[in-house]
Amino acid sequence: MNFVDKLKQVPTSAADRRPMDRPYFIRNNCPICEKSLVYCQEENEKFEDIWFDEFVCSGNCEYWIYFDWASSWWQKLKVKISIWFRRNEK
Ligand SMILES: [Zn+2]
Repeated sequence: MNFVDKLKQVPTSAADRRPMDRPYFIRNNCPICEKSLVYCQEENEKFEDIWFDEFVCSGNCEYWIYFDWASSWWQKLKVKISIWFRRNEK
């Protein structure tokens, strides 16, 4: 698979680089100021070390992280959390 085809692929996890480096499952723009969302990359953090599902506003909004997740991923997380609570109830 060449680089361009890879960038068009549907992401399957947080480790998959997003097509065109834009959010795939959520809107591309900050809900507060409408500026574009960019990867959440700490200062001095290498590009290959970032999570590709975490986005922040490119403007000067408050520090929110937007998770680029498919709704089915949230469903799986909800199930895992509810199982954990059931197992750890007193
Ligand atoms: Zn913003």
